[in-house]
Amino acid sequence: MKPDLFQAPDYYQLDDLLTDEHKLVRNTARDWVKKYLSPIIEEYAQRSEFPKSLVGGLAEVGAFGSYIPEAYGGAGLDQISYGLIMQELERGDSGIRSTASVQTSLVMGPIYNYGNEEQRKKYLPKLASGEWIGSFGLTEPNHGSNPGGMETKFKDMGDHFLLNGSKMWISNAPICDVAVVWAKNEEGRIHGLLVERGMKGFSTPETKNKWSLRASITGELIFDNVKVPKENILPNKSGLSAPLKCLDNARYGIAWGAIGAAMDCYDTALRYAKERTQFGKPIGQFQLQQKKLAEMITEITKAQLLTWRLGVLKNEGKATSAQISMAKRNNVAMALDIAREARQVLGAMGISGEYSIMRHAMNLESVVTYEGTHDVHLLITGLDITGLNAFK
Ligand SMILES: Cc1cc2nc3c(=O)[nH]c(=O)nc-3n(C[C@H](O)[C@H](O)[C@H](O)COP(=O)(O)OP(=O)(O)OC[C@H]3O[C@@H](n4cnc5c(N)ncnc54)[C@H](O)[C@@H]3O)c2cc1C
Repeated sequence: MKPDLFQAPDYYQLDDLLTDEHKLVRNTARDWVKKYLSPIIEEYAQRSEFPKSLVGGLAEVGAFGSYIPEAYGGAGLDQISYGLIMQELERGDSGIRSTASVQTSLVMGPIYNYGNEEQRKKYLPKLASGEWIGSFGLTEPNHGSNPGGMETKFKDMGDHFLLNGSKMWISNAPICDVAVVWAKNEEGRIHGLLVERGMKGFSTPETKNKWSLRASITGELIFDNVKVPKENILPNKSGLSAPLKCLDNARYGIAWGAIGAAMDCYDTALRYAKERTQFGKPIGQFQLQQKKLAEMITEITKAQLLTWRLGVLKNEGKATSAQISMAKRNNVAMALDIAREARQVLGAMGISGEYSIMRHAMNLESVVTYEGTHDVHLLITGLDITGLNAFK
């Protein structure tokens, strides 16, 4: 892969809206990506392998538990800093950002928000340091967009719970030390259970042959009469809203992350368009190429403004689920469009692993589907503005 020459676009001087702490956190993550992630990511993606050697560094830049209090090992940052870290990681690769999003918002988040003090103390410091990796099991073979229909269930056996069922398409599953698993009790109520590697009957086979998020490891969570200790249930929230609230936080991170992927594609295409000559001039001098590049920076700038405002609302505790859906949907679609256009600007070189664009494009095909599909987020906005539920 070519050396990482990334220069972050900031067309509307959005840095002026950031605090010194935001910039420090963002620049630390940015430098780390350039130094440690960029040089190796293409090879790992080509081999379809998760670069485990990056885990310690991810913890050091605050990517694991960015907004979890320092008392539990987290970085104690605000929501904008969290978003900026996700942006920088996804500038490098959506798969690495996925690992961090899952660890922070889908594993540490529910343990912090719905767990008791013993659970917080037991799991959060290990997850923050990267000593443990977590996964989040909601999706099932028969229930993706409609997780409320889940079939995974547990029975109260007196001194333990007996868990049966399966989850699929689970990020980090094959390497996770603990899984936050959403399952129904005998009354059909959804609860979160902490299932640890080594529990008898719990297996995590890897999902192979992905063309997308190849540097992120994905798998199943299979529960065959797993005896889960009673102290492993998350006591402070139940019902479908419990996992959905976690997804809000992860989707918020994705909204920022997608901007990172778009910025990398735009920056690569811009540099290429100024250097590559055809018909005796740089291709960037042709109006058709300028249209592509001008539209890219316009869309990136709009997404940056949308997401910064969402971060302010989130810091104030005012961001709604529907607002987060809008940003996730808009920014991922924007990034996917930009990746496809940028690939064309590079001509044949656009499909080469010498450049990051094709990898971003393939990654974003997962990002547009997971954590609520493009369609589902549109329906959430539709419900929010009309009050009429198109899901039923
Ligand atoms: C790489 C990867 C990693 C993932 N990681 C995780 C993870 O860590 N944990 C986890 O729990 N899940 C994870 N997922 C699963 C992901 O969240 C689901 O794939 C997603 O929710 C969509 O579910 P589905 O694939 O079953 O699609 P389906 O729900 O079957 O949808 C298929 C199509 O139908 C459309 N559709 C569905 N319902 C409606 C409707 N009411 N109206 C109109 N159209 C509709 C959808 O938009 C989509 O286009 C991951 C997925 C991928 C690809």
